[in-house]
Amino acid sequence: MVFNTLAEALTSIQALESANTSINIIDIDHNIIYESARKDHKQNLRPDDHNKIDNGFYRSRNAAFGILFIDNWVTAVTTIPILIADKPYSLEFRQFIRKNIHYSPESRNFEDLSIHQIKEMAITDSLTKLYNRRYIDERLPIDMQSSFELDQPLSVLFIDIDYFKRINDQNGHMAGDQVLQKLALLLQKQLRRGSGWVARYGGDEILICLPGSGKKIAKSVANRLREAIENCTFHYKGKELIVTCSIGIQTIFKDSGVANVSELIAMADKNLYRAKNEGRNRVCSL
Ligand code: GH3
Ligand code: MG
Repeated sequence: MVFNTLAEALTSIQALESANTSINIIDIDHNIIYESARKDHKQNLRPDDHNKIDNGFYRSRNAAFGILFIDNWVTAVTTIPILIADKPYSLEFRQFIRKNIHYSPESRNFEDLSIHQIKEMAITDSLTKLYNRRYIDERLPIDMQSSFELDQPLSVLFIDIDYFKRINDQNGHMAGDQVLQKLALLLQKQLRRGSGWVARYGGDEILICLPGSGKKIAKSVANRLREAIENCTFHYKGKELIVTCSIGIQTIFKDSGVANVSELIAMADKNLYRAKNEGRNRVCSL
């Protein structure tokens, strides 16, 4: 990548920053020229880290990729050479994979993991094996942008288990975990291949993105899923558990005036709230 000025580089780079990714620009003497403004995962950069990257685990062309354990975070670091005003710098992406305070170098050798495994780990929810929140943060803006460019709609379904706390309270947390796992499998099985993706937003909330699907299709998918959940039998230690879900749908087009992902999710969440208020086990869209 070549930039005429630092300001030009920053304009391009800052758009790539997200909750889980920080970006730094380092000069050839390892001085930090730019450091991500985000505070939530701020890590202390040490010259030693860059030596580790220099002795990197993986290299492709000029880029280097390594897994470092920094400030208790398992961190995927990718560095790419860039030119700013004809001077060489290193653009460094840090992706915070997992906080692991018990890590010791002997206990697990991260160098043994393949890049593919590490990437999978970074975007997968460990309980349900669905995509995780990081995936939503990174993929949804891309799908939104592509749908707009193709002049197609995009729909999201925001799914929340009804009275999930009660399932935990009455049967234990393990029962709740099993319900989440079975529900995740069911949703993935029910969703037609290629029509979209399923991710755990957090807790008992699941988000399904359907790029290219308008309101009518989204509604029929949501109703099919809701019915499949209602008709599925969940068991825990021989006991039958009743599980239902409420679903909020939001469909957008490029002229809907929805500028970003947070706005889109907030709108779907509002419809979910209505579904809950209207009695649960139902689908709501505006
Ligand atoms: P509502 O119908 O309004 O959605 O009721 P609810 O009980 O589902 O809502 P609430 O948000 O109060 O409860 C969600 C519960 O999900 C609370 C939390 O303990 C539980 N939960 C979140 N993550 C997990 C998890 O990974 N495993 C288990 N077993 N429970 C979880
Ligand atoms: Mg719930």
